[in-house]
Amino acid sequence: MNKKYRKAIIAGNWKMNMLSSGVKPFIEELKANMPKSKTCDVVLCTPAVMVANMVKAGKDAKVIAGAQDVSKYEKGAYTGEVSAAQLADIGAKYCIVGHSERRQYHGEDDMLINAKAKALLAAGINPIICVGESLEQREMDLTMEHIAYQVKAALSGIDATALRHCVIAYEPIWAIGTGKTATAAQAQEVCEGIRAVIRKIYGARPARAVSILYGGSMNAKNAFELLGQPDIDGGLIGGASLKPVDFSEIVKATAQDAKE
Ligand code: PEP
Repeated sequence: MNKKYRKAIIAGNWKMNMLSSGVKPFIEELKANMPKSKTCDVVLCTPAVMVANMVKAGKDAKVIAGAQDVSKYEKGAYTGEVSAAQLADIGAKYCIVGHSERRQYHGEDDMLINAKAKALLAAGINPIICVGESLEQREMDLTMEHIAYQVKAALSGIDATALRHCVIAYEPIWAIGTGKTATAAQAQEVCEGIRAVIRKIYGARPARAVSILYGGSMNAKNAFELLGQPDIDGGLIGGASLKPVDFSEIVKATAQDAKE
């Protein structure tokens, strides 16, 4: 992390877990374990139906509400979809796009992810854009080519002003929900590579300011080392974000000195 140049962010991804009735008790337990002074933004991305509950319950604990997906369309006859304006209306400040589970189970491609990121930006919501390689791609030494393509595609047509509202999450697919974490060196290498891709497109200053998160089995034990890497500015947390004590330990791990 380098808090001098960019914001540290710990974002939880509840996926399709929890119920609305569980939001308040979760936040109460989280608040009881959270550090008093804030060293990062704490975000919880819930199913869309719980965002309003999170906005209400999270206020006092300074937890920011986020969503996990959005429609690329502004409004209209798209049954079942939720628009960026509707998410903004209920108080979502962040929204994940391009999670590997949406790419895998819903056939989302890079063009769609780009359209969703733009829809969020237009509504004033910060997109958390997920990128990551499969195990096969890593073994074929294609990691950085693949990720560079995903980053370029996701950011296509997004100018430097809008980039300031974007967050990139590096999530190797093989590390998501598997208990298999990338080593701090592996995660740092890719996050540094992502920053280099952004530098090529936008220049040094915007690249230095963009927050890049690591996600993939981050937990209370490995968070400190991962977050100690110079280009890892936070985490996108799945499993451990469902446990208030574990999640708060990850938040605590952001209280370390900045490195470059
Ligand atoms: C995720 O789903 O974004 C994720 C990182 O999950 P987990 O922490 O459970 O690997």
